Amino acid sequence: MNKKESDKLISSLLQKWYEHHKRSLPWRGIRDPYTVWISEIILQQTRVNQGYDYFLRFIEKFPDIRSLANAPEDDVLKIWQGLGYYSRARNLHAAARQIMEKFDGVFPVSYSDILSLKGVGEYTAAAISSIVFNLPRAVVDGNVYRVLSRLFAIDEPADTTSGKKLFAEMAKYILDERHPGNHNQAIMELGALVCTPKQPQCHLCPLQTICLAFEKGKVLDFPVKRGKTIQRERFFNYFHIEHNGYTYIKKRDSSDIWKNLYEFPLIETEAKYDLLQLQESKELATLIPSTDSAYFQHKIRLKHVLSHRIIHADFYRIELNEQGCFDLEKKFIKIESASLSEYPVSRLIHKYLETI
Ligand code: SF4
Repeated sequence: MNKKESDKLISSLLQKWYEHHKRSLPWRGIRDPYTVWISEIILQQTRVNQGYDYFLRFIEKFPDIRSLANAPEDDVLKIWQGLGYYSRARNLHAAARQIMEKFDGVFPVSYSDILSLKGVGEYTAAAISSIVFNLPRAVVDGNVYRVLSRLFAIDEPADTTSGKKLFAEMAKYILDERHPGNHNQAIMELGALVCTPKQPQCHLCPLQTICLAFEKGKVLDFPVKRGKTIQRERFFNYFHIEHNGYTYIKKRDSSDIWKNLYEFPLIETEAKYDLLQLQESKELATLIPSTDSAYFQHKIRLKHVLSHRIIHADFYRIELNEQGCFDLEKKFIKIESASLSEYPVSRLIHKYLETI
């Protein structure tokens, strides 16, 4: 068998397997670019089980490009709440507006125009182009890296520049250009269901007879990783202030995590601080100048793990006098406590709110 024939065989085995084993998902079989786009963005860094309901809620609330573009950003973030990686929601919103302005409200059809949308990278552009417009673009995501690295026993780490290039070439090489959408979905589905990271089901795999890692008995040695991501620890101290049925929040506006989500007044410290250390700190005196008659109560300590950070968060409940509240109104948004649930917040704040 020559090289071309073996590549054809890979794709044909993949697609036959996919035909019989693919999961029935609400965005499958719909060749509508908006639907595929939303599903692809939700499924980045999110498992299908977790993203499923979010997808349904998102499409119900924003059924088309226009409704998404016209929505206030807070509404988009609220629907996204708990899913993490909030830049995805902000970018979806910005891209919908971009489509309204630059493409007259019609989803673009060329790969380069799709790639020009905010938050759309090469993977997403290839997925939409191939699945919806049948363009011969190969997708390379975590599932594809894993399948390819095992199938061809590639010992180049996928997270290096040369590794990325190599995997992109391999993916392109085996692509079925006549059925790119089906081929791409088949290889991703195989990675998600059979060629899984920890316990691959090689006995169920359509590629087993030609898989080099399987032949060598080294399936779990692939993919090769360059090194583990170092997770930085951060220490957050939140102050939940209640006064006459009102509380105080702030919109995060930096380039830090959780941009544009709402949270309680916060002091970030370099290490874990106890209440006494906080009360003696300059930061607290700046944040809430009038604490003389304030009553502080430590409510809970929560640990929240993100991809690059571990956040240790202490939540304090504070009762303040009128003067203290007057100072706060200059820096924070005063809202009725009962309306707190209407604001988009991080999963960490949401976890805290569930405890009170
Ligand atoms: Fe992955 Fe095993 Fe199939 Fe090889 S045989 S592609 S390792 S599931």
